[in-house]
Amino acid sequence: MVLPAAPSGVVEEIAAFGRFAASRGWVPATAGNFSRRIDGRYAAITRSGIDKGAIGPHDVAVVAIGEPVPAGISAETPLHLARYRTDPGIGAIFHVHTVASTVLSRLDEAAGAVRTDGFEMHKAIGLRTHASVVEIPVFANDQDTERLAAAIEARLGRDATVPGFLLAGHGLYAWGATAADARRHVEGLEFLLACHLEERRLR
Ligand SMILES: [Zn+2]
Repeated sequence: MVLPAAPSGVVEEIAAFGRFAASRGWVPATAGNFSRRIDGRYAAITRSGIDKGAIGPHDVAVVAIGEPVPAGISAETPLHLARYRTDPGIGAIFHVHTVASTVLSRLDEAAGAVRTDGFEMHKAIGLRTHASVVEIPVFANDQDTERLAAAIEARLGRDATVPGFLLAGHGLYAWGATAADARRHVEGLEFLLACHLEERRLR
């Protein structure tokens, strides 16, 4: 089957987030992966092993959302595709390996979530007020990413209250209806995690 090429606008949205994430130090050593829904059937996703700060057209592959993942694509592709299948409103998914998300997900793996409360930044991830508690789900890391995707979807479902989750000792996933929404959610969640980590250090 011949897959369509990723539209140049989609490649540029992915590349733009890659440059941003690299500038913040969120994708060290080729870590992370980014995807964008093209339509109801296809998504574009970064190939594995590439410099996320210099993504070009050949670094983005098109995959069918409802079919098995072809060889040579990022091992974490099933996590992206499962989210797209569960929630048709998701248009972009960005995954980064930040220090705060990696450390806090290890500390709170047994609790199953990192909890933050009282932050103005809660509004950036869809809550109405700072006077709220956010539970960012944490899942145990698993190199069997099909099995991991099934566990994530069983817990999150279509109406996830927070637009992201953590993999223990690994990093942060966040999504949105558009690439701009997904980026805002990555930034908001990462800011919350960084503040929370700092508070725990000072306590
Ligand atoms: Zn990863």
